[in-house]
Amino acid sequence: MLTSQDDIRPALRIREVTLGDPFIAATQNKISPLGDRTNSITDRIYQKYAIENWSESKLRTYIDMLHAFGFNSVQLYDQWQSYVCAGWGNDPRDWPEKVDALADYAHTKSMGTTLFIWGNAAFDHHNKTRHMHLCWNDPHERKILEQHWDHQSRHATHFDRIVTHWADPGGCNRNGCTIETAQHLHNQILKRFRAKNHAIESSFSLWMLHSREYGKWEGYEGPQSVLESGILPHDVMIAVHSSPDDGCSSRYGGFEINEVTEIAAAGRKVGVWAWYLADNEIAPSFIVRTKALHDYFSNVPADMYELIERHSLDSTSHGLNMHNLYVAGKLMRDPYADAQAVLREFIAGALGRENVENVQEVFFTIEALRKGFMGVPEGTVDAARRAHDLARGVLIPKGFSPAFPMIISPEELAGELTAQTEAITEFLVFREASADLERMTGQGASEARVNAAIANLPRVKTPSMWLTNLEYCAYLAGLDELKKALRRQQ
Ligand SMILES: [Zn+2]
Repeated sequence: MLTSQDDIRPALRIREVTLGDPFIAATQNKISPLGDRTNSITDRIYQKYAIENWSESKLRTYIDMLHAFGFNSVQLYDQWQSYVCAGWGNDPRDWPEKVDALADYAHTKSMGTTLFIWGNAAFDHHNKTRHMHLCWNDPHERKILEQHWDHQSRHATHFDRIVTHWADPGGCNRNGCTIETAQHLHNQILKRFRAKNHAIESSFSLWMLHSREYGKWEGYEGPQSVLESGILPHDVMIAVHSSPDDGCSSRYGGFEINEVTEIAAAGRKVGVWAWYLADNEIAPSFIVRTKALHDYFSNVPADMYELIERHSLDSTSHGLNMHNLYVAGKLMRDPYADAQAVLREFIAGALGRENVENVQEVFFTIEALRKGFMGVPEGTVDAARRAHDLARGVLIPKGFSPAFPMIISPEELAGELTAQTEAITEFLVFREASADLERMTGQGASEARVNAAIANLPRVKTPSMWLTNLEYCAYLAGLDELKKALRRQQ
């Protein structure tokens, strides 16, 4: 199936997937507007969707799948998020070894390997604690940073490249630190890696540096703050911040074409480090990004593809986003291809030709209903119910074997489509009923009748084995809001 595609000259030379995490704990950290609902996450859910809990053999299948989808590089990390998102709290267990094994396996498939590093948000391996915004100019914090970098550099011989990130949980504006400090620290980290692997390359990531909320370094005014300082050696690639501007994520914006041209004009290699593009780490769920990926890649002017040396994107809800990865893998080679046709190709390969029509409608409906940055469903119960019925009707043809390696089986994928559309339907049914109830109260129903109606509202099932936390959290939040609104009316 993929052989004919291999003949085209790829638009992006290095096409990389960052294997991140379903950041279920984001709710606990109050990042999510849905509030703290992590108690609904069972061990079974962590084991299914967080790759840290997967066997090495299943992880190798992941690499095989990415390779088959047209990616030629993988980005991995060994950071505190991996431990937390696996459901292990602050315990790294065997993840550091698995990261190396996975990178080694990627090399056997002729794929490149990149290690993601938080420059100054560190995990202290001596006492298993996490630290954000550490300061190099504080003697105590410097020690934590040095052991963090030492731990990271133990991965050096398994990786071709490191990418250092400086904002988000990183950044420091204490003790005279500026964006120049971050560049000096990049050089220090690189030196530690080169001592073990002299050929290793590096990128300095601009992710979130421009953000008033998540960028902390004084003096950062754009790529020129890095290009003109003369601190980073000339072979350090600069990776621009990227997130799709599809009208639902203006909070982060898309990548700035001007930044790419500016970096290239300075004679530097340009990378694009994208997040919230093929997945959504902080609203882990089954999301469909066919249209969003099409809009993103087809809107990049062709000459821009000449300037970009590598482009990475995110995979975080593992097993729930194979379709997005398939579509992205194709569009990174052929950005103006028909994304819906590519999606059909995925469905045929994953579930059999017989299922293409119906499952394409299921995907289309999920993309239409899970709206906005957080993906909380909006739309009619009828549309959701129809998608659910179509999903339930999926039958894998007898003796069917998928056209490519898959990290979950065709039967499991069909099960996910059923469970996910069920959660969406339950949520929209709840939404509709709670809107009716609000109207009824507005018309002066008695307190007893309102209380009885609240008790009888349709529910969204507590997730026990499917990653449907999004609808469940939104349901709990909606219920709280409804009670508050009704109390105000009485
Ligand atoms: Zn500092």
